[in-house]
Amino acid sequence: MEKVDYDLIIIGGGPAGLTAGIYAARARLNVVLFEKLVPGGQILVTDWIENYPGFPEGISGVDLVGKMADQAKRLGLKIESNEVVSLNLSGKVKKINLDSGMVTAHAVILATGAHPRKLEVPGEDAFYGRGISFCATCDGPFYRNKTVAAVGGGDTAVQETLFLTKFARKVYLIHRRDKLRAAKILQERALANEKIEFVWNSVITHIGGSDGLDKIFVKNVKTGEEKELAVDGCFIWVGILPNTGFLGDSVKLDEYGFVIANNNMETSVPGVFAAGDGRNTPLRQVSTAVGDAAIAAFSAEHYIESLKN
Ligand code: NAP
Repeated sequence: MEKVDYDLIIIGGGPAGLTAGIYAARARLNVVLFEKLVPGGQILVTDWIENYPGFPEGISGVDLVGKMADQAKRLGLKIESNEVVSLNLSGKVKKINLDSGMVTAHAVILATGAHPRKLEVPGEDAFYGRGISFCATCDGPFYRNKTVAAVGGGDTAVQETLFLTKFARKVYLIHRRDKLRAAKILQERALANEKIEFVWNSVITHIGGSDGLDKIFVKNVKTGEEKELAVDGCFIWVGILPNTGFLGDSVKLDEYGFVIANNNMETSVPGVFAAGDGRNTPLRQVSTAVGDAAIAAFSAEHYIESLKN
């Protein structure tokens, strides 16, 4: 068998990557995890997680991922801050090009997750960091007793809007339909919260301000009516896009760019597995990412064993 640097390379350090690392380290594979910045992923911007089992009172995203990273390191996982710039997965030896040079492995687990979708309206980029935010945990405290807008109707929008009400005087929740997509328990809490004013059937057309953001323009998609809302900030939670651009055409992606993997987390390329939010999956949760990752590591271990035998 050709000599390689590692049995397994895990790309991405969110809950999926760290869980794959825990399983791979316990399987005594020669494994490394590469993460662009610091371990955590999207969960770092999630205020409070109350549907991950084992934490009856809930747990913050930062704490949960911190515990996962500690657990993985204690079991011997090597975690390196390094960006994967390109890769060649086609042969038996997988070649991963990093900022710092090339490394090779028998198998790869792709766990690079996803990032927030933008509205793509005028003013969104100009006011990013000056009133536009994708993270309530990071920026919510700046809006104590202020009025803010939030956009979206999914779990993220509703959960994070509820979090914003701890600080803001008022939150306009702007949604393009008249029904929320979020879990019923979140809907009930939001509908009962007096600080939230729902702006149904509406989209933001323009974000404005002189110094910082101070207004948004909202259009009712049913009536065509347009109005201006005076706000101090605007939080955007309209879904997520996969972090798979660096893959090029090295594995099969679905029409939205998520990696296609089967029940064993096998991608279209032998020896390459996928786990977590970057995979084509019906549900993107910490619990599903963790489940995917356990299977991906198990499948990778079997694949590596089959090469060695
Ligand atoms: P999501 O479920 O895809 O919801 C996106 C929301 O944004 C939808 O309400 C959608 O409207 C709206 N939207 C999409 N594009 C838009 C646009 N261009 N303009 C205006 N509105 C737009 O995304 P998410 O809420 O980020 O959740 C992503 C995944 O993470 C989901 O699987 C979710 O369950 C999971 N998650 C779970 C929790 C939790 O369990 N506590 C918390 C956060 C996230 P429509 O409804 O009309 O399509």
